[in-house]
Amino acid sequence: MSGVPLVEQAAAIASQFLSPRADQADMATGPPVEQIRRLAEAGLLGLTTPPQYGGEGAAPSVVRDCLAAVASGCGVTAFIYYQHIVGCRHLASCSNAPLKDRLMPDLSAGRRFCSLAFSHLRRPGPPPLRVLAEGDAWIFDGTAPWMTGWGFADDVLLAGVLPDGRSAWALVPLSERGDLQASPPARLCAMNASATVSLECRALRVEPERQVKTMTPAELAADTDRANIFFTALSLGAARAAVGSMRSGRCDDLIADAADALEREVESMRAAVDRWDDPATPADERGDATALRARCIDLGVRASNAAVVVGGGAANGLGHPAQRLFREAMVYSLIAQTRDLRSANLDLLLRSDKRVSK
Ligand SMILES: Cc1cc2nc3c(=O)[nH]c(=O)nc-3n(C[C@H](O)[C@H](O)[C@H](O)COP(=O)(O)OP(=O)(O)OC[C@H]3O[C@@H](n4cnc5c(N)ncnc54)[C@H](O)[C@@H]3O)c2cc1C
Repeated sequence: MSGVPLVEQAAAIASQFLSPRADQADMATGPPVEQIRRLAEAGLLGLTTPPQYGGEGAAPSVVRDCLAAVASGCGVTAFIYYQHIVGCRHLASCSNAPLKDRLMPDLSAGRRFCSLAFSHLRRPGPPPLRVLAEGDAWIFDGTAPWMTGWGFADDVLLAGVLPDGRSAWALVPLSERGDLQASPPARLCAMNASATVSLECRALRVEPERQVKTMTPAELAADTDRANIFFTALSLGAARAAVGSMRSGRCDDLIADAADALEREVESMRAAVDRWDDPATPADERGDATALRARCIDLGVRASNAAVVVGGGAANGLGHPAQRLFREAMVYSLIAQTRDLRSANLDLLLRSDKRVSK
């Protein structure tokens, strides 16, 4: 480790390495391997892994600032990267010590890479992926509709629903075989290089050594607030990059004023998110996590739209960063979506007076 604060390292990698390659990474047919390797070399793959396993055990605000920096440099890199650090966070908090001892040092160093497939737990209706206990093993049957990083990730944090309504979480090694089949990669208008597939599990048997945890629906709902706060970083990163794009090129007074105003909004939202997360903040002053995330999503979309407007006709070109940021900001409005988040976003889109941050 270099001794340089993690956020500074992430920002330097973003501006010097990720950003110059971002349009190329966006158009690539597979994940940005070199970019992820550069993050690993800086210790950033161990951001959410405790020091006892070789990680940084960074505070949530540091994790968000690092993710925002990466997202401001390259959307698809941030998109793949966050899967890994979220997976490591869940693994670190579980009680399966032998699993952690065996895998966390490699995950932290980036010698193994982890993806996720659990967003379907937040869908209403019959679970698309069910789990039955057979002795002390778990048997997964059904489809996880989304998993990013197929062909790149070594493991997936996979979750399905037990008959009693709890979710069962396991770290499953990824390779195509009879009991685990991936769809062809989805064709996407943003994050197309993320190698996103659906995973079909046919009587996939997971022994205790790969089991991570179970969660009740109430525990999952409580974690959703934390997830919403975490994902603000992607939108704020895109907004910051959009402000940078506005200031490059033909920047007259009007554009400079608009960029300054958007930058003030980014800083104000970042402070509001940090306040939510600060244990010293009184409960009645924290604000609502879903509403905060909705405002960050809205800001990311508006700022990148402003960058498109400033870019003019050229911004419609596939090599122009503004339209890429606009597409990335759009995807961030869908990630880990819940009904409440969707309502909060629609409300903002229909009520422009609610958008202005104080
Ligand atoms: C490019 C891409 C990559 C992704 N990669 C991953 C990944 O690697 N791992 C992963 O786990 N997920 C991944 N996702 C999923 C993502 O995080 C979101 O969960 C997902 O996009 C939300 O859409 P959905 O179609 O799955 O859910 P939807 O079914 O549209 O549901 C979204 C929300 O709306 C609510 N809802 C839906 N229908 C109703 C209804 N009738 N009444 C009330 N509420 C309702 C649901 O409860 C849910 O909270 C990815 C998504 C994209 C677009």
